[in-house]
Amino acid sequence: MSTQLAFLPPELSDRITYTDDGCMLWTGPTTPKGYALVPKSLTGEKYGHRAVWRLLRGPLPYARDTLDHTCGRTSCLNVEHLEPVSRAENSRRAARSRRVRSWSS
Ligand SMILES: [Zn+2]
Repeated sequence: MSTQLAFLPPELSDRITYTDDGCMLWTGPTTPKGYALVPKSLTGEKYGHRAVWRLLRGPLPYARDTLDHTCGRTSCLNVEHLEPVSRAENSRRAARSRRVRSWSS
């Protein structure tokens, strides 16, 4: 799990904290929705989860160019918690997780 950090530039790894359940949460600036914002000069991606995917896994498949957080934490940068999905699938999942959140609150 921690080996992922070894492959990330310090601009990213210095700002990541682990949670007990294995998430790698971004402690730097985020979008209003909580997505990590990283220097675009690193990979050409401004979103941290997309930058991490590019660094560790390479380019995203054309038809599945959206990364879904399987852990539901938008600031998580653990590549194991990201899954490439189509935009339509991501919207379906977002609707589902909104329902889950409202049940638990
Ligand atoms: Zn996570």
